[in-house]
Amino acid sequence: MRRQASSWGSLAGLLSVIFLGSATALAQQDFSKVEIKVTKVSGNIYMLEGAGGNIAASVGEDGIVIVDDQYAPLAEKIQAALKGITDKPVRFIINTHYHGDHTGGNEPFANTGSTVIAQDNVRKRLESGGTAGNGGSIKMENKPAAKGALPIITFENDVTVHLNGEDIRALHFPAGHTDGDAIIFFPKNNVVHMGDDFVRYGFPFIDVASGGSVQGMISAMEKTLTMLPPDVKVIPGHGALSNLDDVRAFVKMLKETSAVVQTAIDRKQTLEQMKQAKILAPWEKFSGSFINSDAFIETLYNSLTGQKGKFVKHN
Ligand SMILES: [Zn+2]
Repeated sequence: MRRQASSWGSLAGLLSVIFLGSATALAQQDFSKVEIKVTKVSGNIYMLEGAGGNIAASVGEDGIVIVDDQYAPLAEKIQAALKGITDKPVRFIINTHYHGDHTGGNEPFANTGSTVIAQDNVRKRLESGGTAGNGGSIKMENKPAAKGALPIITFENDVTVHLNGEDIRALHFPAGHTDGDAIIFFPKNNVVHMGDDFVRYGFPFIDVASGGSVQGMISAMEKTLTMLPPDVKVIPGHGALSNLDDVRAFVKMLKETSAVVQTAIDRKQTLEQMKQAKILAPWEKFSGSFINSDAFIETLYNSLTGQKGKFVKHN
């Protein structure tokens, strides 16, 4: 999928079709047409865009560390794109969370010698499979992943990979986009990969069925904002290379829309009444065909009232 989509709507439309990499979705996506675009971000850090989540790559004398790996059918193209930078192997993959558009390449990369690292809950959710969703109209089935796709090294709070002269640090933030999110810091290069706690396709998908919440997403972003230098380069889970002003605008939208839905909850409005009253109309520019205003009202309502939907199979 090209990132230069003409609008959030068309990008989000593509995302909705291929989002989590279910068997049906994979059948619908023609990966043969996907090209991997490589952008040098800073120093020895690159960003790779194809279909699915953005990849960060630390490329240096010790080899390659990548953050996320898109879809299995793209693994060879991703390897080829990396070969254009170095002949060294991909030694480690860090998953930002369990969704198939970020972990689909785990198995093929593991088969060629890479070691996958992720937060404990990423492995659990890949292993069990289950239903992802916003507790409302957005639902996606995930089959249990093959053994070869499971992370070999897992961590509860944080882990550091010391490679290419840098302390690459993965830090877990609970209950944001999912319950297994990690944000990955490249301190020497002044780059951060946010996973899907920060995306550029409009209202974000928050997987409340997998332990995500808008409150957790806001706190993850606010904490991260205090940790980062002002000129850090930000790789979002989806969308173009960003900066902290972009992150601040995203957090502002999350806080304002949450406050509006919370006020409606306090006034005992039903979900249906909130949708009919179009309470998120002032943020209409964030409404996409994947997460439109109604789906985001559901997300916020379920997040703020602690409803995770009735279809969760695991935990
Ligand atoms: Zn995701």
